[in-house]
Amino acid sequence: MKAIRRFTVRTVLPESLKALDELATNLRWSWHEPTLQLFRSIDPVLWESTGHDPVALLGEVAPERLAELASDWSFVERTNALRDDLHSYLQEPRWYQSLEDAPRAIAYFSPEFGIAAALPQYSGGLGILAGDHLKSASDLGVPIVGVGLFYRAGYFRQGISRDGWQQESYPVLDPDGLPLTVLRQQDGSPAQVALELPENRVLHARIWQAHVGRIPLLMLDTDIPANDDDLRGVTDRLYGGGGEHRLLQELLLGVGGVRAIDLYCELTGAPAPEVFHTNEGHAGFLGLERIKKLVGKGLAFGEALQVVRAGTVFTTHTPVPAGIDRFDLGLVERYFSTGLLPGVDVERVLALGVENYDGGSPSTFNMAVMGLRLGQRANGVSQLHGEVSRGMFGALWPDFDTEDVPITSVTNGVHAPTWTDPMLLDLISDRLGAWDTTTVDWNNAAISDWDLWDVKGRMRSQLVQDARARTIASWVEQNPGAGVPAWFNELLDPNVLTIGFARRVPTYKRLTLMLHDTERLRALLTHPERPVQLVIAGKSHPADDEGKRLIQKLVQFASEPDVRKRIVFLPNYDIGMAKLLYPGTDVWLNNPLRPLEACGTSGMKAALNGSLNLSILDGWWNEYYDGENGWAIPSADSAGDAAERDALEAESLYDLIEHQVAPRFYTRDGDGVPRGWTAWMRHTLSTLSPALSADRMVREYVERLYVPAAHSERRVSADSYAGGKELAAWIARIRAAWPDLRVAHVESEGVEIVPQVGDELTVRAFVDLGAVEPGDVNVEVVSGRAHDGDRLKNVQHTRLELAEQNGTSATFAGRLRLDRAGSFGYNVRVVPSHPLLANPAELGITAVA
Ligand SMILES: *Cc1c(COP(=O)(O)O)cnc(C)c1O
Repeated sequence: MKAIRRFTVRTVLPESLKALDELATNLRWSWHEPTLQLFRSIDPVLWESTGHDPVALLGEVAPERLAELASDWSFVERTNALRDDLHSYLQEPRWYQSLEDAPRAIAYFSPEFGIAAALPQYSGGLGILAGDHLKSASDLGVPIVGVGLFYRAGYFRQGISRDGWQQESYPVLDPDGLPLTVLRQQDGSPAQVALELPENRVLHARIWQAHVGRIPLLMLDTDIPANDDDLRGVTDRLYGGGGEHRLLQELLLGVGGVRAIDLYCELTGAPAPEVFHTNEGHAGFLGLERIKKLVGKGLAFGEALQVVRAGTVFTTHTPVPAGIDRFDLGLVERYFSTGLLPGVDVERVLALGVENYDGGSPSTFNMAVMGLRLGQRANGVSQLHGEVSRGMFGALWPDFDTEDVPITSVTNGVHAPTWTDPMLLDLISDRLGAWDTTTVDWNNAAISDWDLWDVKGRMRSQLVQDARARTIASWVEQNPGAGVPAWFNELLDPNVLTIGFARRVPTYKRLTLMLHDTERLRALLTHPERPVQLVIAGKSHPADDEGKRLIQKLVQFASEPDVRKRIVFLPNYDIGMAKLLYPGTDVWLNNPLRPLEACGTSGMKAALNGSLNLSILDGWWNEYYDGENGWAIPSADSAGDAAERDALEAESLYDLIEHQVAPRFYTRDGDGVPRGWTAWMRHTLSTLSPALSADRMVREYVERLYVPAAHSERRVSADSYAGGKELAAWIARIRAAWPDLRVAHVESEGVEIVPQVGDELTVRAFVDLGAVEPGDVNVEVVSGRAHDGDRLKNVQHTRLELAEQNGTSATFAGRLRLDRAGSFGYNVRVVPSHPLLANPAELGITAVA
């Protein structure tokens, strides 16, 4: 029988074990190995069956066991010591506390957060990254407040039918059984936000709070009695519905999220955020709610926009159009023609997101475009992705070259304490007395090649055991009552070269590239001396039948009798599986269609566990591949079509595995250690662990984006927003006057007929300013190597100074040195200049000679 209602009754812990409650409700346990060990030791079997979930464990553990532990003096001591350790972790000054003038608080908005398997509120990379961002922020003492939604059924649970077809199920989560608490008013009632909808309806949401170490994470939940039945379902699933459902989720996340933060600050006394960071476009409506608040204080829309932009950071995560939310303009219009944002004109809202540029669709509202227009600072997530994004969004700055488009990049990172296998941690703590894999000296002789090889072997065995257990469990689920095939206990071999491949299954990631030539793959898997084995996982979006067909193709190949022990597809890729999968692999494979992988983080997590990467030079690998940390699969960029490209890249992949990867792995010395391999493992660990850690990433966000954004925000907000008002008026004046500004002509002297290195060039630019003042502009020489079609490369900007002014005509002059031989070219450009602009291209206007 199905229950009509279900809830979780929390255990009342014996007095001496009260500290367990605190340890279970702060998610720091998810990356704190001693705390994880404490929970495991309560009941190792239950720990596994609850999927490493402390709250569930405490809910289910037998009362006799609790009574036994309550009187176990050493267990109680250990528990209390860990609680004390948590307390000091939460309070002591950390890296951020040594910064000066840094923001008092930063709000970080994301549609998904992947923190622990026990809190399944993520679909893939974007969410895991957001979780890692919060964890590193906590470790570094960065005062972030996370904002997201609480989805009753998370993403989905993946099963695989006997014929290889993905099956989705949506187990409903009970927030009372999760490490969450509800945000309450002073009188004890749950705090709620309300959003005005069309037809006088109202959407209500309560606010769950998770504690991610020092970081509060607020999650809005609409499944409450105050809502009509259909509105209760707004937060039912992550990326579940289409158009309107998605719009409702994003309104809630953005507009509701800002209201939730306001309530949170009011109720807890926490400082209000000075910087708002939008992790991808989905949360972009947050800027509109903030504009509304300022309009309510008497600012004009344009003034409020400048104030909001100053403190907003926007991160774009994908160059794949399907990854960007786009809504029908009419739908957005309907939702903002309500009492939702009093004082904000719907036309102004639409103007922020409409694709009114070359190549855009004027009836479409684009969340990434709005993100860029609402954020004074924007970034992509690897150097290559920054470049690709500047090209992709260049139409928003049509007068500028792609290099000048104001989108920078911060390469993603991964949270080392979460993603490093405890066996590797044990090794460094045992040999070096150190616990931080990202700062330890991996070249220290106390760690021998044999040690590295031994620990990798143990991690590989652990993966093999886990893969067998998962395969058996999945079989039992799909074939109730049938006996489990005996060969499952021989699935995978703990001594065979193990290649991992796991990720979501959009087409660009090419799950089945390895199947391009099945005979070639078969030969690699069954090679008599140098076999390889493949462990594969990944979810396809429920609406993506193409992705499901790819999974099916793979599952069908993997069931062929001659290869089935060497290739396995594991259903339901999640954090729990990932934590064993990365360490257990020798090689991490990634073969996206370049340059569609914005960054890719799974290979980073593998590298932190001493796996070598085998990947297309895309995303992070394009930056970090150095010839001794793995292999680059050449991209066949010159291929005639997609099929030829797949064929060429698949051939390269097989060749690399056969001639490079397998020989390196199987070439052993007298002790059975593959020295060539362990040398690359050591090199990977020592060079990539620091570079790929989320600590590095979060520090970069703080130093390059959050601190400058806070300074901008303070300057526009001071004296009742005097700076913002002045900036808005200045922008309006400059925009109006700009059409009359032009570079009349340019003169140069000082360079002989045959210019030589060391010569100095004097440049004078004669500019008709019209109504613009000389101080409103920067006049610059843009110089560099002149390439085909006179395009300048490796450009430098040299500022010219005002030399003479005559009414509206002005002469600007300066000198530049020819410091390099070869082709040289220059031009002169005029750009708006104001101390509150963050980038010369910001207004999208320029005048060129
Ligand atoms: C890291 C991770 C991802 C993202 O991997 P990419 O390489 O960025 O695609 C997806 N799912 C899980 C469970 C992960 O741990």
